[in-house]
Amino acid sequence: MTSPSKAAIITGAASGIGRALAVHYARQGVVSVIGTFPGDPHDPEETLRLVKEANGEAVIHEVDVRTTASVDALAQRAVDEYGRLDYAIANAGILRNSPLGEMTDERWHDMLNVDLTGVLRTLRAGAERMTDGGALVAVSSIAGGVYGWEEHAHYAAAKAGVLGLVRSVAVELGPRQIRANAVIPGLIETPQSLDPVNSLGPEGLKRAGNDIPWGRVGTPEEVASVIGFLTSDDSRYITGQALVVDGGLTVKMRA
Ligand code: NAD
Repeated sequence: MTSPSKAAIITGAASGIGRALAVHYARQGVVSVIGTFPGDPHDPEETLRLVKEANGEAVIHEVDVRTTASVDALAQRAVDEYGRLDYAIANAGILRNSPLGEMTDERWHDMLNVDLTGVLRTLRAGAERMTDGGALVAVSSIAGGVYGWEEHAHYAAAKAGVLGLVRSVAVELGPRQIRANAVIPGLIETPQSLDPVNSLGPEGLKRAGNDIPWGRVGTPEEVASVIGFLTSDDSRYITGQALVVDGGLTVKMRA
């Protein structure tokens, strides 16, 4: 292909919010490296198909955010494939249920290794290879980013940690005009939230949707477009911030 104007890496792009973002970028003329985790059953080819359907361009790359070398290789793939890297999106995440009494050190570390250190690895690898003027976005959660969530202390701690990480990176990379921001999704219908064991499941999402001011849970596309905004020139003076995307869930007073 001819040299693209912008290139992105997206972790966890074989499903959910990451997939929707690859499609959003395709519509904007941004090429993507679709990060896919082979340990999960998601189909990265479907993401690629949707990108092509939107007249976009992308390549699939296997990545495990638990390993620095693997994440570095993902970021390098953008440079090798497209000659540039403009946006790095730390979207990959896991969600596990664990009451405090069963929160072994191993469970704690396994969660933070993906949901917090995995974000560090992605932002670091991206920033190292990024064209000055680029943008980083990390995906936090209302669990940790705004609320506590019973039996999810490790997840909430990781997602709260993401916010401190992003703020500090924003300050450090400001002189290079590289911005770092976070999105804080509310309840979004994806494979993660549809898991009835570790999250709400289909029934729980339906019930929760009735209590959201907007009247329903969100779609992956509704988060993806906000990430797109945070990497676009339209937000060029926004850095170190976190945008809540939740249909009004967290501003509703409950007695
Ligand atoms: P999802 O399960 O579809 O996406 C998560 C992706 O991360 C998957 O593609 C998975 O394969 C990938 N992944 C898991 N472990 C990985 C690893 N070790 N290395 C690389 N990739 C790995 O669900 P989603 O909702 O689209 O999740 C995207 C992000 O949004 C996550 O960080 C999640 O915590 C966050 N989030 C989701 C919701 C929601 O309601 N769905 C709410 C708040 C935050």
